[in-house]
Amino acid sequence: MSAWEANVRKVEPYVPGEQPKEKNIIKLNTNENPYPPSPKVLKKMIELDRLRLYPDDKATLLVDEIAGYHGLKSSQVFVGVGSDDVLAMAFMTFFNSGKKILFPDITYSFYDVWAELLGIPYERPALDEDFNIIAKDYYKDNGGVVIANPNAPTGIARPITFIEDILKHNQDVVVIVDEAYVDFGGESSLPLIDTYDNLLVVRTFSKSRSMAGLRIGYAMGSEKLIKYMSDVKFSYNSYTMNMPSIILGAESIKDDEYFKDTVAKVIDTREWFKNEIENIGFKVLPSATNFLFISHEKVAAKEIFEKAREEKIFVRYFNKPRIDNYLRVTIGTREEMEIFLDFLKKIV
Ligand code: PMP
Repeated sequence: MSAWEANVRKVEPYVPGEQPKEKNIIKLNTNENPYPPSPKVLKKMIELDRLRLYPDDKATLLVDEIAGYHGLKSSQVFVGVGSDDVLAMAFMTFFNSGKKILFPDITYSFYDVWAELLGIPYERPALDEDFNIIAKDYYKDNGGVVIANPNAPTGIARPITFIEDILKHNQDVVVIVDEAYVDFGGESSLPLIDTYDNLLVVRTFSKSRSMAGLRIGYAMGSEKLIKYMSDVKFSYNSYTMNMPSIILGAESIKDDEYFKDTVAKVIDTREWFKNEIENIGFKVLPSATNFLFISHEKVAAKEIFEKAREEKIFVRYFNKPRIDNYLRVTIGTREEMEIFLDFLKKIV
C-alpha cells in the first residue's frame, strides 16, 4: 500500500442493478417504467445553443411546477439529481447529532452506504417475519429516522397514520419518508408536512414519470427544512440540475393525464401478473409499487435469477440475509410479463 493510501477515505459503494448493454432483453431489474415519458416531454425542444450557458441554479421552472402540482410554496421544494442526490443531501444536512439514526434492516440499501460515507452512526431495527416495519422500534432516542414508504425491496406500504405515529414519537429529529414508489398505490405522508416541520418527504421522477435517465428527484417539507438543505447544497455544487432536466421535468408535471394513465397500466399489469404467479406456487408480498417481491415454494430464487438471465430476462436478486430466496421483479409491459410468465411456468 502506498503511503498516501493510508489517508484515503475507504468506503464500500452501493452497487446498483445491472444495466446490460445488449439489445433485445427484458429488463425487470431496476424498477424503471416500461413506458416512455409523456409525449409532451418527447416533443419539447431545447435550444441547444442555450447549453453554453449555466442552468438556473435554483431550477425555478421545475421547482415552481412541482410546488404548484402539490399545492405548496416553492420554498417548500428542493430538487436534486435523482432522489439519491436529494437523500444524500438530507443525510448530510440533518443527521449530525452523533446519535444513531434508525432505518429498517431490510430497506433501500443506499441508506447504510450514505451513513458510512458521512460517518453517521446507525441502527437497523428488524422488520417482523412478514416484512412489516414495527413502529415501536422507532420510539427510542435517536439521531433521525428514514422510512421508505412503500418500502423497497418488499413493496409493502403503510398508511399515513403509521407514519404519523412515528412522527409523534420523533419530534426532536428529522424524519425522512422516501416515497420513490408512492404513486403506484401507497398513501403519501405529504399532508403531514403542515403539522410536522421536521418531516421531509422525498419523491422521484425515475419510476412513475418514466424519467430515470434524466435524474430528477425532489423533497418537500417545511420552509425551514428546505432552507437548511439548500444551504448545504449551495456549499457543495451550485449547478446540480442540468438545463434539459429542468425544462423536461417541468413539462412532465404538466401532463397529468398521461402520468395517471401509465401508472394505471403498470398497476393493472402488476395485479394480473401477481395473480398468475400465485397460481404456480409463488409467494408474493403485497405491493404498492411497480415491482413484486416474490419467492417460490420449491425453486430457489438464485436459480430462477440465473436461468432467467440466460434467457435475457433480467430481474434483481439480493444475496443478503433473510431475503436471499426472493426476487424483485419490476413490472414491465403486459407483453414482457407474459414472456416472463411463460419462462416461470417452464422452470417451476
Ligand atoms: N429510494 C428508493 C427506495 C429507491 O428504490 C430508489 C431507486 N434505486 C431511489 C430512492 C433512488 O431513485 P432515483 O435516484 O432514481 O430518484
